[in-house]
This record gives sequence, structure tokens and C-alpha cells, in this order.
Amino acid sequence: MSDTMKTQLLGMTPKELAAYFKEIGQPAFRAKQVFSWLHAGVPFDGMTNLPKALRQTLAKTCMDNPVSVLSTVQSKLDGTIKLLYKLHDGHVIEGVLMRYKYGNTLCLSTQVGCRMGCAFCASTLDGCARSLTPAEMLGQIVCANGILHAQGEGQKVGNIVLMGSGEPFDNYDNVVKFLRILRLEGGLCIGMRSVSLSTCGLVPQMRKFAEEDLPVTLSLSLHAPDDEVRRKLMPVANAYNFDEVLDACRNYIEKTGRRVIFEYALVHGVNASPEQAAKLAGRLRGMQCHVNLIPLNSVPERGLTGVSEREVDAFKKVLEQKNISVTRRREMGDDIEGACGQLRRRYIRDNGKAGEEARD
Ligand code: SAH
Repeated sequence: MSDTMKTQLLGMTPKELAAYFKEIGQPAFRAKQVFSWLHAGVPFDGMTNLPKALRQTLAKTCMDNPVSVLSTVQSKLDGTIKLLYKLHDGHVIEGVLMRYKYGNTLCLSTQVGCRMGCAFCASTLDGCARSLTPAEMLGQIVCANGILHAQGEGQKVGNIVLMGSGEPFDNYDNVVKFLRILRLEGGLCIGMRSVSLSTCGLVPQMRKFAEEDLPVTLSLSLHAPDDEVRRKLMPVANAYNFDEVLDACRNYIEKTGRRVIFEYALVHGVNASPEQAAKLAGRLRGMQCHVNLIPLNSVPERGLTGVSEREVDAFKKVLEQKNISVTRRREMGDDIEGACGQLRRRYIRDNGKAGEEARD
């Protein structure tokens, strides 16, 4: 049976798995057993509490993980690992595994590419080929756990940031299903407090998400102090204006009790002046929030460049003086290239085929 014909088990809820096993004439408790094995990254032939014949049938007819690791590069400076994954239909996505003192954080992709069109973002340059399934999101974590395990440290991914390629809210149902499975006991068991979801600001989905009882940390890619500048950088700002986005954030804070993180990539000559910092502070006054300043990773394809240390400091100082909680995002894996979609682009450029497939 070809891979694409196989039944994908990883993204199923325990209920769906139970229904599947019932359908193939197996007792319901198999669902619980298989759920645990799948999330532990154990292939069918290693599922030792299953009868051998069943393991063989599953191997022939089902898929355990639709994601596999194509290559990895590890930073000598801080242990950060950049990963390229292959999906079963040949598409390529990337991820970053960051090693902090308090644990391992994995940056996940939610789509192959992105259709939001932000001017500074490499992930969107070829548009979006397709959205990822819950199985493909879980599969990235299972793969990363495999790498950590192979390094012999008995470590696991503890925190997830949905900040790889793709717009999570442009793939709403799959992302919500992924989050509901992610936190289940017997599976990966990663709680919502350990998850950050970054969005460019799709207002209706932000409001809907506030009602899902999935209290993740919401990161909002703001990148501008007003509509005029935001529209230059982010086409989505033409659909939802600044006030609507901030209102949706206030609603999220109110419903979940969690502060919102505003991401702000400083782009030289566009959004990085001290006057713009003051304007931003004015807009955010009184909100339970935090600003994360990101020195732009220059995107030569778009003619946008980052800022100097001095410009970052000056911008940060203005926000601090106005009592806005602010940090400068720590740079991880400085010695290994490939931030924000650039690793995948290089792979596609050098290998051609995936690039052609990935194009809409
Ligand atoms: N679509 C989501 C999540 C993916 S992007 C979103 O827009 O939030 C994750 C973060 O990286 C976003 O804040 C995005 O604006 C930022 N980003 C993208 N390209 C960048 C670049 N070249 N330099 C710095 N940050 C960038």
C-alpha cells in the first residue's frame, strides 16, 4: 500500500482511535495502547504489548508518523538544532529546537509555506502549498523527541511555539485539534501553559479561539505602531485595522487571564524610530502585555534590513520609560544559518523538485 493510502493514526483522538480499532475487530483497549506508543515515537513492530499479527497488519495499512527528519544542524554555541523534515507527499518543512535551562522548546510549522504575504517573511515568498494536519504537527514533536533521545540525555520537548512557517489561524480546525491532543495524558502531555501561538492577527479566529478553553500564550505579530506602517509590512492589516486587532487581544486577555505578547521586528527606516516607539507605547498603555523586540533577519529578496544594536536599545528605552514590559528576543543558534523559513528555501533552491511541488 502506498503511504498516501495508509490510515494516519497519529492525529486521531483516543475516541477516533477506539472507533478505528472497533472497525477492524479489535478490543477498545488497543486504542489506549497504540495512542501511547505513537506519541512515544515507537514504530508498529516495537509495540510489544500488541499481538504480532496485529502489529504486522498495522504496519501494512497504517502510518505511525507522517513526518521524518531529512537533516539537522546543531549550533556549537548553544545547542540549538535546526531541522528539515520531509512529509509523506514530498513537501519539506523546517523547525528549530531550542535548548534553554528550563527545558527544550520546539518551534513548529503549521503550513507548507504561508499565504499571508508579510513583506519581511521568507516563509511566504512562494505562497502556501497546503496546510498541515494535526498528525503532521504532532509528528514534528515526535521526531524532535527522537533526536533528543538519540543524544542520550533522556530529554523531551517541554514547550511548543507555533512560530514556524504558516499562519496557525489560517489552519484553524487542525491547529485546535492538535492542541486538544497535545495535552492528553498518555500522549505528549504538554499543557497549554507550555504553548505559545503566534498569529499575524486574523481577528475572527482570535475571537473564536478565546472561547476554546485552550489558554495558550497568544503572541501577536504587530510590527508597527499604526495602520499606515502596518499595512506596508503586512497585507493582513488591510483586512483588520489596528484597533480591531488590539480589541481582539483585550478580549483574549479578559477571557483567558493571560497576557498577550506583541512581537515587533525592527526594520531599518520603517518602524524603528524612537517616535514610533513612543506611539506604540501610547497604543499599548494599560494593557496586560509584553513586547518582544526582534532584530529583523534581513530578507535580501525584499530589500529589507535589520537595525543596529543602538537602534534596538533606543527603541527599548522609550518603551521602558513608558512602563511597557519589553525584552529583546534572545538570538539562538547564531552560528547556524536559516532563520524564519530560510533553511527550507535553501533546500528547495538546491534540490529543485520540492520547490516545484511546493508552489501553488
Ligand atoms: N504566521 C504567524 C507565525 C509565524 S511567523 C505570525 O505571523 O505570527 C513567527 C514570527 O516571526 C512572527 O512574529 C513573524 O512576524 C516573525 N518573522 C518573520 N520573518 C521575520 C524576519 N525576517 N525577521 C524577524 N522576524 C520575522
